[in-house]
Amino acid sequence: MPGYDVVVVGGGLGGLSAAAAMSRLGARTLLVERHPKVGGYAGAFKRGPFQFEASLHALSGLGDPIGGTPLARYLDYLGVLHSLRFEKIDPIYHSSGPGVEITVPGGVEPFKEALAAYFPLDADGIRTFVDDCLSLYRKIRPLEESLARGDNTVLQSLKRPLALSAVVRAMPQTVEGRLASLVRDPAARLVLTQIWGYFGLPPSKLSWFWFCGGLATYLNDGAWWPVGGSRAFADAFERAIRSAGGEVITGVGVRKILAQRGVVKGVVLDDDREFKARTVISNADPMKTDDLLGQNGFPLWYRLHLGTLEVSASTVNVYAAVGKSARELGVRAHETFISGDLNQDAAWDRVAAAALPLNLVAACYNLVEPGASPDDSSVWMLTTLSNGAPWLALDKGAYDSHKKAVADAMIAMVDRRYPGFAANLRRTEVSTPYTNIRYTGNTGGAIYGFSNRPWSHSVLRPGNDTPIKGLYLAGAWTRPGGGFQPAVISGRLAAELARRYLGINRHTEG
Ligand SMILES: Cc1cc2nc3c(=O)[nH]c(=O)nc-3n(C[C@H](O)[C@H](O)[C@H](O)COP(=O)(O)OP(=O)(O)OC[C@H]3O[C@@H](n4cnc5c(N)ncnc54)[C@H](O)[C@@H]3O)c2cc1C
Repeated sequence: MPGYDVVVVGGGLGGLSAAAAMSRLGARTLLVERHPKVGGYAGAFKRGPFQFEASLHALSGLGDPIGGTPLARYLDYLGVLHSLRFEKIDPIYHSSGPGVEITVPGGVEPFKEALAAYFPLDADGIRTFVDDCLSLYRKIRPLEESLARGDNTVLQSLKRPLALSAVVRAMPQTVEGRLASLVRDPAARLVLTQIWGYFGLPPSKLSWFWFCGGLATYLNDGAWWPVGGSRAFADAFERAIRSAGGEVITGVGVRKILAQRGVVKGVVLDDDREFKARTVISNADPMKTDDLLGQNGFPLWYRLHLGTLEVSASTVNVYAAVGKSARELGVRAHETFISGDLNQDAAWDRVAAAALPLNLVAACYNLVEPGASPDDSSVWMLTTLSNGAPWLALDKGAYDSHKKAVADAMIAMVDRRYPGFAANLRRTEVSTPYTNIRYTGNTGGAIYGFSNRPWSHSVLRPGNDTPIKGLYLAGAWTRPGGGFQPAVISGRLAAELARRYLGINRHTEG
């Protein structure tokens, strides 16, 4: 039975990052991915002359100019950063809703002043909200850096009492809690917090701490597009693993994680191959990881803890090729947020029930990837959040008709904003939570692991270690959270724990 220092189960971004870090540290590393290609949600597909992005809207955390952030330095260390080309996304979005049409620039001051000018009665509140957000982000940054280096964050935090007290005060707050006294106009609130969908909950439920990290990094560090999209991003990690001496097996899943007396021993693949491993890093969701452990699974207390956490939303996507260019349709920004109601809780109620959506984001990829389709056409991904559980309760007939009804409603919303969109559709593909489950195995087709509630974001999520010795977690379900940037960092955190367990003295750098 061949042996490895580490076997990584799953090649989503968390798994890829962990395997790249472990190989770079000199550990004998094997990554096993069930699908023919690595990436999990990070992928792409082609239909005729049209190149579709499967998930990515914008990549956060790279710095502006690129460099200097924990993510950029880490990607540099792995050899991923310079094997890719990045385009800056600016304007960052266009917001379209009842009585609202505004194209929003990136950068802290341009963002603040554009919104203040559009909503003069709320100008001061808008500025204060953004300033508060940036101020908290600057306090989080050093803690994030020490977390990323694998330092003892508790000790590091105690060395920075001011930052620690700001962080502790922010932890239990919601975005709405901060917004309520500052900004009155519901339209201004909508545009200011428009990217809440990136974190999977509306302002009334979303952690202020997590939102701040996200908004501030988009404004301060830029929103970026890796040329070639998330396929290129995931492939760059695979190359990094191989060039550092790691191995990657695709097209076969891990059927079992072997453990004895609470210590991990290896894995068994679907084709019965068995590999010994001193550590295992699982990119499968924690509940699926428990299933893989079988009768040697997690202790009851850990299962109960996982059971108390809410699973984040899934998505419905309409991938559309349109026989008109972005210019002909009048598209001004890579992303257009379309809201049918200024009340974000009403929009959320539709998400929770997986009903016909009130809001969506329409990304037109020709603005960042001009070669994605022929010049006289454009390719789009329309995305709405939609909880997985109601979809899974539908029988086949009800599922098919609901899928069509939701997709038609999304196309109609975009057509109202960009007339000619629906009449010129050349090709559409629709994905639902079932599609997400097929590609990743994630419970409910969740895209951010557990929800980013005030009590379950960042360091409040299940840790990267587990009650099984030598078994670690990477990906959206664990620390620091879901999304491309956090999933990559989660892989580094898991690798830091594994290297310590293995007695490797060198740190990951970045
Ligand atoms: C439509 C959509 C749009 C999004 N937009 C953005 C965005 O713009 N910006 C952003 O930051 N984030 C975005 N996200 C979220 C982001 O894609 C995810 O949070 C992130 O990619 C999750 O990474 P992960 O490491 O958890 O792995 P996942 O992507 O969940 O992948 C897990 C992998 O593990 C494999 N696996 C599981 N079990 C096994 C097994 N037993 N054996 C072998 N392999 C196994 C799966 O096949 C899969 O490849 C979006 C997601 C979606 C769906």
